Amino acid sequence: MTVLEVTGLRRSFAGLRAVDGVSFTVEPGEVVSIIGPNGSGKTTALNLVSGVLRPDSGQVTFQGRDVTGWRPERLAAAGLSRTFQNGRVFGNLTVAENVLIGLTPTLQAARPFSRWRNVPVLRWASLLAETAVALVDPPAVRRELADRQAKVATQLDRFGDRLTPRADLAAHTLSYANRRRTEIARALASGPALLVLDEPTAGMNPAETGEVLEQLLELKAAGQTILLVEHKIDLVMRLSDRVLVLDAGSVIAAGPPEQVRSDPRVIEAYLGK
Ligand code: ADP
Repeated sequence: MTVLEVTGLRRSFAGLRAVDGVSFTVEPGEVVSIIGPNGSGKTTALNLVSGVLRPDSGQVTFQGRDVTGWRPERLAAAGLSRTFQNGRVFGNLTVAENVLIGLTPTLQAARPFSRWRNVPVLRWASLLAETAVALVDPPAVRRELADRQAKVATQLDRFGDRLTPRADLAAHTLSYANRRRTEIARALASGPALLVLDEPTAGMNPAETGEVLEQLLELKAAGQTILLVEHKIDLVMRLSDRVLVLDAGSVIAAGPPEQVRSDPRVIEAYLGK
């Protein structure tokens, strides 16, 4: 079954057509990249797909269900996880706690902006819930916690020795690249059917970018379906099965990387600059 089908998606801001009739699909196991000049509508398209924004018109179908207008947390619970351009982690939770949040999709879609308000609530709410369950059925709690710890460890190990040794450090103490890895690990924790990444290597140096590329290639080899926006063309060409080129809110080319790269319209609008 097609993982994602987007049909005729439109969204304007004060008369500006940011996304102007975009259609595409993502098939199981595919990596599809969206590229295009600044302001061409890439992030808006991801926001429409992941429920951060509502489309003015058009339809988003995820695994055969019409999910148009669904909120991010509902989409996350249905199997669509995303990361953000600037990397959103809960700075005063540990790396492991951040990934643990990914196991609870409603929390995964929570915004770490208001961390002073959110974090104590998260801590106390989960503590209360766990205490209540523990009083009723301690072995079940132990099994559940062991299971969650194992899932978190699996996600951390994905990034070699970058995250595992730092599992118990507050996320704000990490390097930028490690915070972004933490965010990807969190998005993967629930085993999403579709991983949506907004510029996963933005702000990373070439070595860090190369490392993230290897990790994304491993994910792809393991069958993970991915939709991403990315500026770094070399990464896009190496990773993608198909590339979608946006210009002024419209798709001007779509196809395998080699085909898109040699498309005269693409060279004119984007690559040639
Ligand atoms: P890209 O990700 O390709 O750089 P965006 O999707 O961020 O492009 O933006 C597409 C266009 O929509 C740009 O002209 C941008 O200024 C405008 N835009 C995006 N988000 C908003 C918003 N929340 N309010 C007003 N204009 C916006």
